[in-house]
Amino acid sequence: MSVSYRDALRAALLYGLLSVFWLQISDHLLNSYFDDWGQLAQWQRINGYLWAFISAVLIFIARARLLSFMGVGARLKHQRQDRERLRQAAVVFDCTREGVLVTDCRGTIVHVNRALVEITGYTAAEVLGHRPNMFKSGRHGPEFYQAVFKSLQESGDWNGEIWNRRKDGEVYPQWQTVRAITDGKGQVTHYVAVFTDISAIKKSQTELTRLAHHDALTDLPNRLLFTDRTEQALASALRHSSGCALLMIDLDHFKIVNDSLGHNIGDLLLKRVADRLQRLFGKGFTVARLGGDEFAVLVDNCPRTAEAALAAQQVLEVMKGVFEVEKHQLFISASVGISVFPRDALNAEQLLRNADSALYKAKKAGREGYAVYTEELTTHAQYRVEVANDLRRALEQQELRVYYQPVHDLKTCQLIGVEALVRWQHPVRGLISPGEFIPIAERTGLIAEIDAWVLEQACWQMGQWQSAGVELSFVAVNISSRLFARPELFTLVSTVLADTGLDPALLELEVTESAVMDDSQAALEQMHRLRTLGLRLAIDDFGTGFSSLLRLKQLPVQKLKIDQGFVAGLPADNDDVAIVRAVIALSQSMGLAVQAEGIEHVEQAQLLLDLTCDLGQGYWFGRPMPASELDWQRAPAMHG
Ligand code: C2E
Ligand code: MG
Ligand code: MG
Repeated sequence: MSVSYRDALRAALLYGLLSVFWLQISDHLLNSYFDDWGQLAQWQRINGYLWAFISAVLIFIARARLLSFMGVGARLKHQRQDRERLRQAAVVFDCTREGVLVTDCRGTIVHVNRALVEITGYTAAEVLGHRPNMFKSGRHGPEFYQAVFKSLQESGDWNGEIWNRRKDGEVYPQWQTVRAITDGKGQVTHYVAVFTDISAIKKSQTELTRLAHHDALTDLPNRLLFTDRTEQALASALRHSSGCALLMIDLDHFKIVNDSLGHNIGDLLLKRVADRLQRLFGKGFTVARLGGDEFAVLVDNCPRTAEAALAAQQVLEVMKGVFEVEKHQLFISASVGISVFPRDALNAEQLLRNADSALYKAKKAGREGYAVYTEELTTHAQYRVEVANDLRRALEQQELRVYYQPVHDLKTCQLIGVEALVRWQHPVRGLISPGEFIPIAERTGLIAEIDAWVLEQACWQMGQWQSAGVELSFVAVNISSRLFARPELFTLVSTVLADTGLDPALLELEVTESAVMDDSQAALEQMHRLRTLGLRLAIDDFGTGFSSLLRLKQLPVQKLKIDQGFVAGLPADNDDVAIVRAVIALSQSMGLAVQAEGIEHVEQAQLLLDLTCDLGQGYWFGRPMPASELDWQRAPAMHG
């Protein structure tokens, strides 16, 4: 039933009740004063009730019509809906997580909700009657607030980020929306501000930015941030006509720590190194971890190489002390590459690249030292790129050749084996030795293809010799340390053996000491797997690496090859004699064959024989040569 009808019914009922009540009273009064009221009274009573009923109906109709005509019903309905809406708004206002603040048109706070109290730390009583500037943090200048008011005046609202202060003094960011409330005439009566505390979002944003720019392990800037800072430093150096230096630092043989003591200890060592470098350079310098065991330092105001070299020297010095990591006492050295702005490079990327080239030079020069970038290094780098491209072509055009160098039994002087050594028959430059292109092939990944091809050729050639009745005990093939720990090597070797049908006992694989020691666990597993194929393993260039005797004992190898550097000093150099003697004794005590490389004179061969070395290889016996030129009968005689 509509409001107007309900109201009219109420009025009619009220009238009816009052009439009946009046009739009852009058009836009672007349009865008590007049005795002959009797019949007449009965009739009058019925009439009275009838009249009361009819007039009540008339009142109902009149009232209902009047009310609907005047629109009172609709107004009452609206009022009721407004009341309901207000009640809901009040609940929302109080329950919302956003802080809400209402001011009058002069900016005096007239209302706040519960969330505002929670966010700001003030009670409602403390803020009502004050102005919102009580929350000011001081982070924004007057122009900021002017822009807010301008926006409110022009468009009636403003929203944006604003930094305010809590009661306890903490400054925090809010996302705030302010709206002007106008009356029917367009006059501003109130302002309502709704805001969210975005400090948690800001914090995680800051954390994300920090994570993207810092190394998680050491908390040092990472390569991204370091490059950015270098760019800024170069721009500032350019403005002030000064210079700066970039030191790139790489730990020597860090892999050994990782492999022998585990990654946890390795990580802790990196942290200690980072601490030491930071303490050495202090807060003003950017020390970064570029990845792995590689660090970099940006030295501002350092335009001269001599000053940069001094800083590099300090790095080497500071690394000398023992690193206490858990219960281990570790020693580690570093190599440093230096590049100086503006002398060597004009942008950050180039400066980094040049420092890297210098670092490579320092490593090659024997580690634990520093090297300064020179233009020659770039020429070298360019040369390396050219050779790598050329080498790719050489592989396709089959310009590589395998030469074989004889290995003789020192006692009988008989040729008993050969070592396969790769050569590059360059169409313009002639025969190029592996020393020139193998390191480049290793850096560019081409080495995998080269070694696979040499292995295939050598096994095939050995098969040919076998068929021709040549008595050879082995063909030795060099495997790059870059490939040795890789699982593909096993597949490659077994496939080549299967394809060529060569007896695996006739194949010897040579690996360098560093290949075995650098990634020792993977290399050890690889060695055991390769041994299951039935081939033999030799350690090449023995004595030049960092073999630990303990590790050597664990390796399933059958031969040690004494590096030619020690043989070269024979027989005059007493140190070399002592080393060669020791290596022979060591091999024999471990039941390994021992072979000396680089024998160029008969005296060297004689001394090696006297020291009971088993096998010899060198120009005195024969140079590396094409398969067809090998002289099977050659057995050079010694004097004694
Ligand atoms: P390596 O395996 O130690 O090979 C011995 C090197 O010493 C060879 O140099 C050989 O020609 C040289 N040599 C032999 N006897 C004498 C001598 O009496 N005096 C002097 N001064 N040198 C002698 P080459 O052929 O230039 O090879 C250099 C290195 O290149 C090899 O050292 C080996 O590490 C690497 N290499 C050669 N061929 C391959 C290959 O197919 N694969 C891989 N990964 N490396 C290879
Ligand atoms: Mg070799
Ligand atoms: Mg060698």
